[in-house]
Amino acid sequence: MKDKITYYNCHTHRKPQSENEFCIRNAFLCDFPENGSNYCFSSGLHPWFVNNYSESRLENLLLKIAQHPKNLAIGEIGLDKTKPHFEKQMTVFLQQLAIAQKLEKPLLIHAVKSMDEIISPLRSFKGMIVLHGYQGNLQQWEQLNQNQNVYVSFGSKSLQENEKLHKTIQEIPLPFILAETDNKPLRIQEVYKAIANIKNISLEVLAVQIEENFCNVFGSNQN
Ligand SMILES: [Zn+2]
Repeated sequence: MKDKITYYNCHTHRKPQSENEFCIRNAFLCDFPENGSNYCFSSGLHPWFVNNYSESRLENLLLKIAQHPKNLAIGEIGLDKTKPHFEKQMTVFLQQLAIAQKLEKPLLIHAVKSMDEIISPLRSFKGMIVLHGYQGNLQQWEQLNQNQNVYVSFGSKSLQENEKLHKTIQEIPLPFILAETDNKPLRIQEVYKAIANIKNISLEVLAVQIEENFCNVFGSNQN
């Protein structure tokens, strides 16, 4: 029997790996590389690379690239305390937040050891937000989600033995969950299976809900 599920991969660094996968490929600040019917892209300056860009260069590039019809989101952008230039990371992050607000684009957020610092700017953002590779807990998500606009995406770590993360996946309600492979060599189908197991629901139920969540965040005009 043909597998009819479409698997939505909201954050990856590669092309889709099967016909029934739909991806948002992270393109950093590059132009959309080529045409592909089952993928779109996201654009933004990653917090690891903030030191290579001036504010004006970033502004010009991002404004131009993010208006491409295949661009679905600004990201991954965010804060990472394990990397240098934290102050500049914050400046660049706020700048990109303003661009996303202006263009009315959703955000794909990279937040490492910086949940406390990222909460305030994100709470003032009026639009959809995805916390990719989420490693926070239920309470942090609730603090952020006062406007019902914050989704969390889980990836490779959901396949590992990780009691804290599994608890978070169980606790966060299904209508706010997305899936991703990020830069890991794994199939999105494996991530779906892991999340369905942890939440103790069928793959089909999960797939229907993720499709709905994905459309809520990124819109339904992905072609
Ligand atoms: Zn990534």
